Amino acid sequence: MDYSEVFGKVMSHAKEYGFIYQSSEIYDGLSAVYDYAPNGVLMKRNLANLWWKFMVQLHENIVGLDAAILMHPTTWKASGHVDAFNDPMIDNKDSKKRYRVDHLLEEYIEKQLLKAVKEADKNAKKNGWALDSPEYRNYLSKHRSTLKAKEVEQKMNAALNANDMNALKQLIEECEIVCPVSGTKNWTEVRQFNLMFSTQLGSVADQSNTIYLRPETAQGIFVNFLNVQKTNRMKVPFGIAQIGKAFRNEIVARQFIFRMREFEQMEMQFFVPPGTQKEWFEIWKQKRYEFHLMLGLPENRVRFKVHEKLAHYADAAVDIEFEFPFGFKELEGIHSRTDFDLKQHQEYSGKKMAYFDPERNESYIPYVIETSVGLDRLFLAHYCNSYCEEDAPTAEGGTELRTVLKLHPLIAPIKIAVLPLLKKDGLPELAEKIFDVLKWDYDIQMDEKDAIGRRYRRQDAKGTPYCITVDHQSLQDFTVTIRERDTMQQYRMHIDELDNFFQSVLNFKTYYKAFHEK
Ligand code: ATP
Repeated sequence: MDYSEVFGKVMSHAKEYGFIYQSSEIYDGLSAVYDYAPNGVLMKRNLANLWWKFMVQLHENIVGLDAAILMHPTTWKASGHVDAFNDPMIDNKDSKKRYRVDHLLEEYIEKQLLKAVKEADKNAKKNGWALDSPEYRNYLSKHRSTLKAKEVEQKMNAALNANDMNALKQLIEECEIVCPVSGTKNWTEVRQFNLMFSTQLGSVADQSNTIYLRPETAQGIFVNFLNVQKTNRMKVPFGIAQIGKAFRNEIVARQFIFRMREFEQMEMQFFVPPGTQKEWFEIWKQKRYEFHLMLGLPENRVRFKVHEKLAHYADAAVDIEFEFPFGFKELEGIHSRTDFDLKQHQEYSGKKMAYFDPERNESYIPYVIETSVGLDRLFLAHYCNSYCEEDAPTAEGGTELRTVLKLHPLIAPIKIAVLPLLKKDGLPELAEKIFDVLKWDYDIQMDEKDAIGRRYRRQDAKGTPYCITVDHQSLQDFTVTIRERDTMQQYRMHIDELDNFFQSVLNFKTYYKAFHEK
């Protein structure tokens, strides 16, 4: 199956196997808002717990925080979100669809570059060049340079940096970009839209009571910087980590849980002495990249993308991109945010944000390295990456198609399924006993209905890494069959060994060490 087909498959699989539902589905849903179903909620929690272990538990200089979603409105003045949390949008007058201008231009650039590769491939075939030959590479780079892609990218970044809406409109016209729905070039002017949701505090609807649903979790960390530093006696460099909901009134909210209006972020702000931020930026870039590989995202689907256009608060920024079935897209952002946020809060609140560094014997406002990953996007990355359809042998000696989620065992929602071969002869009772021993440490499921082959398929489709089958032999010698999801290998094991076995194969430390000792 082609990877580009996986996205459609995942969307229907998510509903059918209880991972994700559309929010308020009985009322035809709410656009770009989703609910996590029983298997989804387990998988999402596993991802969040792994992030927490990796970031907080393994770093003695990182502590956690759970700040409220609602914050004093001045927070968002100070952070720049009231004035500058905008996206440049354009409407097509025929289809009445609204688009982010930078997305339209980026798609154009990507298509141009793809065209160059196709052209070079055609030439390579004609001339018998290997794809790693110097002839091929020369042709490709020459052909690329004749395209407008680079020039368009530079112009777009310049216009975005200068907030020049006219220049962006001109670029759309120059590139002759058409609306993907109507196919026409009948565009409106480019306008800025603020992405924050607002609401009223208390019962009086008056402008001064307007508050916002946080568009990022980071500001809850910044305003608490000194509280955490003092109450936990933290010494710079140190970090504060947080997992929580964020809200953005995304105008173009498509692509399932990739871009939602209500989503969850896992952010860590790492406070460092001024002048050391470049070093720390590199360290966190590397650590975060390793996290994704450790949990099974393959190297060829994860890459860095350096930001050309820096946000108003950053002196360096890089995205970790993942290759979703619809292309490489941002999964996580790593930003060197300077002392911008703490300085702004100091200015707007009138409260000192400086830290006294006993080693340097001086006071300063720390610089900040931020790592920010969307929990839902991480979920989608693992979902897409692990979705497989493959031939599997049947009991009758033939083959059948099986759908399997080859999730990392620590991410899989259900770790173990216990399957009594028959619903009689005391097999369910023994299965129940095994269930009772293992349920304390693992998300585990009893599955008694249908033929054993169908039950295996059902567990494969949910990503359950291990099944335990209880049969008549189990009643005699207290051994059961362990069946592995990916290899479909089966072996017998004594019931008394199960606990130890799962302790060793479902163990964060084991995976962490194995990855780092590679
Ligand atoms: P994008 O360019 O895709 O809009 P961003 O650069 O605005 O993302 P950040 O503000 O850096 O994103 O947020 C950090 C992370 O939060 C992103 O890398 C992404 O994983 C996640 N995220 C941001 N917006 C959304 C959203 N609307 N839905 C789901 N996840 C999101």
